[in-house]
Amino acid sequence: MNFPIDRFQTLRTPFYFYDTALLKQTLDVVSAQLARHESYRMHYAVKANANPVLLRIISAHGFGADCVSGGEVQTAIAHGFAPETVVFAGVGKSDWEINVALEAGIGCFNVESAAELRAINDLAKAKGMQAPVALRVNPDIGAHTHTNITTGLAENKFGINLEQIEDVLRETLRLPGVTFKGLHFHIGSQITDMLDFQALCNRINALSGELSRHGLPVGDINVGGGLGVDYEHPDKAPMADFEAYFDVFRRHLDTQPGQTVHFELGRSIVAPCGSLITRLLYVKEGTAKRFAIVDGSMTELIRPALYHAFHLPQNLSADGSRPTATYDVVGPVCESSDVFAKAFDLPECRRGDFIAFRTAGAYGESMASGYNARPLPKSYFSSDFF
Ligand SMILES: *Cc1c(COP(=O)(O)O)cnc(C)c1O
Repeated sequence: MNFPIDRFQTLRTPFYFYDTALLKQTLDVVSAQLARHESYRMHYAVKANANPVLLRIISAHGFGADCVSGGEVQTAIAHGFAPETVVFAGVGKSDWEINVALEAGIGCFNVESAAELRAINDLAKAKGMQAPVALRVNPDIGAHTHTNITTGLAENKFGINLEQIEDVLRETLRLPGVTFKGLHFHIGSQITDMLDFQALCNRINALSGELSRHGLPVGDINVGGGLGVDYEHPDKAPMADFEAYFDVFRRHLDTQPGQTVHFELGRSIVAPCGSLITRLLYVKEGTAKRFAIVDGSMTELIRPALYHAFHLPQNLSADGSRPTATYDVVGPVCESSDVFAKAFDLPECRRGDFIAFRTAGAYGESMASGYNARPLPKSYFSSDFF
């Protein structure tokens, strides 16, 4: 990736830098995969990154939106996503959020409990409407990823348990304020083992078979998102393996004529195109360690502190001539967890160097906070510079 560091000189760090050319290439690759199947639809998971410029680019590619709050529904529609392509998940939808989505005319509520189903039914009836709903199934499948980002196990809070799904489906068909659209699944995030998605397909096929045998409709299938990216090698692998991903569903998901298959990718679409750009403030020689203290922190990029996630640090100011040294790369926030990398080798760091943290386009800017009264990060785009 090219970083226009001459142009960065006058900008206040830290900030996000997005390679919009890479984002567009990624969207083209995904679109080409989708084009192979008339029944496949993509809903970009807005929570991965709700930056308005990125949302505009993604909606212009004709993708729908996957939202997890009323605010995301409003943001997605305000940035070009067609309301009927918006799907809305989440275990705790407030009444105002349900009303926002009803009034907007979204495509589907992904319902996560019988109690929520009844609330949506009541609110829709009060407006003389019928809410389109899919039932989110907890498929009790473990994805081989960090425990904080698995969502498909019976112990997780998400979705309706397999044993209850038939009863909730029967209730859905009886309620006058809702229209049954299909089944929704999402097993977790940063999944790189395609066998996890294959296991999901097998579970969906088994459940669909069972419901059909009981005379119940299955409707459309939403398989969620979760495809992972390579955080270790951002330049060698700047794109997730979309072909392998879609192949799993082509080969293993049984579909019926007329059945639509929905996907909700977030991370794999936006993670590679984003970097957090910081500057080196000080090198501090401790007794046991050497610290590279940068001006970026967990308030711009919380994933290392929250999930021990790795974002490759890169000294953009160093040419090939500098010797390497080993650093703990840390931010200025008053938390011991405000650490980007421990015992990491970098070309010798000097005050003022630009230090980038790569693959930060997903769950970076969207998770930024104002802790320590730090300002929210600004964002710049490759299209502004090249
Ligand atoms: C977060 C989320 C996604 C997107 O997950 P990624 O790992 O970013 O692809 C998709 N669907 C639902 C319901 C989600 O909560």
